[in-house]
Amino acid sequence: MDNKITTNKEPIHCPICNKPTEYSTPPIGTFCSTRCQMVDLSKWLNEEYVVSEPLQPHHFEDSEDQG
Ligand SMILES: [Zn+2]
Repeated sequence: MDNKITTNKEPIHCPICNKPTEYSTPPIGTFCSTRCQMVDLSKWLNEEYVVSEPLQPHHFEDSEDQG
């Protein structure tokens, strides 16, 4: 019998650093490390912040003195 090991897994690359890595169990997924995952997460999070209006000082001046 053949003792040849055939791996059906295709080598994947980390979408962040493009490093060849094996598919990890979630939450890491296709990332090579949690660090790259956070980078990807912060990337689209930053885009959300970009479109949103930056906080202005008058936003914090809403608290009036409660009598
Ligand atoms: Zn990576």
